[in-house]
Amino acid sequence: MTDKDVIIACDFPSAADTLNFLSRFSGLKRKPLLKIGMELFYAEGAGMVRRLKEEGYSIFLDLKLHDIPNTVRSAMAVLAGLGVDMVNVHAAGGSTMMKAALEGLHSGMNGPKLIAVTQLTSTSQEMLRDELLINESMPETIMSYAANAAASGLDGVVCSPLEAKAVHSRCGEHFLTVTPGVRFAEGELGDQKRVMTPAQARIEGSDYIVVGRPITRAADPLAAYARCIKDFLNIDII
Ligand code: C5P
Repeated sequence: MTDKDVIIACDFPSAADTLNFLSRFSGLKRKPLLKIGMELFYAEGAGMVRRLKEEGYSIFLDLKLHDIPNTVRSAMAVLAGLGVDMVNVHAAGGSTMMKAALEGLHSGMNGPKLIAVTQLTSTSQEMLRDELLINESMPETIMSYAANAAASGLDGVVCSPLEAKAVHSRCGEHFLTVTPGVRFAEGELGDQKRVMTPAQARIEGSDYIVVGRPITRAADPLAAYARCIKDFLNIDII
């Protein structure tokens, strides 16, 4: 994986839908980075990951593990064996779980990057207070989770681009910020609440933006992806 990039969230229900979608990008010199999440992984399993790796894609496997440390350690050893490039856990699982995840990943040679979800970008301050019973502010909660992830040896966090700058100043410039919740200025929010445009995310210092529906549901997905690359990396790809 390169230093800064756009990751397309392949939230599709089947291999056929995914491959059909990816065929639109076949003319590009550089393959897009892909995120495989729960929907596609639960539908198609590890075979889909292996297939896309064989086709030369870099993959962020977004399964957001959150379980007891021993289970997460063993599960991560299995995921490392798939040859994926990035995986994640929920920081809410705590530092012992995050360290166990790292042990599982690096029991082989070069493990994938491990990042932690701080708070989902669909979570609002009201949900934090009324449902999760966390009375600290959203920014304070996120910074505390990020600091725990950094202290546990992780490579970075998933957070909103709104928090990327603060995470870097708290945890260091090399600590990765992988940021979903990206929308074009005129786009629909869907279920996302804390959002930014690709250009704003660049200014805030996001390392990777994760973009799903603004690309996958666009009338012209290749044009939407190219617009993200242009706005985020200032590179013309078509
Ligand atoms: O379609 P959209 O651009 O909202 O997709 C965002 C993707 O990022 C989804 O796959 C979602 O599961 C994921 N994600 C997120 N917020 C997090 C972690 C992951 O939206 N905190």
